[in-house]
Amino acid sequence: KTNVFCVGELLIDFVAENQGNDLSKATMFSKKAGGAPANVACAIAKLGGKSSFIGCVGNDPFGAFLLDTIKNEGVDISMVQRSETFTTLAFVSIAQDGERDFVFSRGADIELTYDSGVKKEMAKNIVHFGAATALLGGNLEETYSHFLFDSLCCDVFISFDPNFRGDLWKNNETTFIKKCLPYIEKSHLCKFSLEEAQLLSGKESIEEACSALHEMGATIITITLGKEGTFLSTTSNQITVQSIEVNPVDTTGAGDAFIGCLLYQISCLDHPSQVVDDFDHLKYMVEVANKAGALTTTNFGAIVSLPTQEQLKLS
Ligand code: ATP
Repeated sequence: KTNVFCVGELLIDFVAENQGNDLSKATMFSKKAGGAPANVACAIAKLGGKSSFIGCVGNDPFGAFLLDTIKNEGVDISMVQRSETFTTLAFVSIAQDGERDFVFSRGADIELTYDSGVKKEMAKNIVHFGAATALLGGNLEETYSHFLFDSLCCDVFISFDPNFRGDLWKNNETTFIKKCLPYIEKSHLCKFSLEEAQLLSGKESIEEACSALHEMGATIITITLGKEGTFLSTTSNQITVQSIEVNPVDTTGAGDAFIGCLLYQISCLDHPSQVVDDFDHLKYMVEVANKAGALTTTNFGAIVSLPTQEQLKLS
């Protein structure tokens, strides 16, 4: 079975219970497992696929909670590193003006080191780079480069989601764009939001943005558009794939469920790179992945609301 290695951050999101307050006023927080690449690993495992999470958490109770959470979903955690630095924490609240108030306390995730032994295991499998904090510097960024470099040498299907967080890159977007370029160039599959596609390409319209991103080297591009579905683009075909109708209550993690479900389907092929040459099949896979994204919005929480195979079939 093809394994999907999801590399990057796993952290605690402390979400303010009394929304409508900024963080200076919030008094109660609930502890949630967070981190886009870890969510993707959970989405794959929950659908019955094989996924490994590779990242670093603290040797503290928060690290233990995070590892328990993703292990319970069926994710392989044997490559996770533990550090004496505290587990990375994010505090989030939606303030009265609707803006996200955000405090980020970067801890262990930055310390992930590269173990070249992983190269043998990655060969012919899938590696998903769920960037987010990984491009902010430190050991993790260097480890990312090693993963990318070694992926190129051993027939790995490469997937990239930049997970741009405006909060973390204020006035520094140019650096962010520059750091994404090698991943866009080398990836077989890129997942962007519309904002990311526009930022990275410098183009307003979705078609022009995709053309520019293909010129930068991207092979398959998916641009998630919330309830409008997903724009799918290859160098020879472009189409908007509709989603299903749902009543969303919490959109957190919809993008991770989408890319997780798409990667799960790709991992079921005889060889992942087959997907590049069969646009009709790819379109069908995106339709299924849209469903996974949509279903995730119908419940609270990123991980608990990820769909199972059964739920995908019923919808
Ligand atoms: P995130 O903020 O979690 O990273 P994202 O912005 O990348 O998410 P979205 O576009 O919100 O991702 O959602 C991913 C996919 O899930 C969409 O492409 C769509 O197919 C589906 N989806 C999300 N929200 C809805 C909705 N309200 N109705 C129907 N489908 C939805």
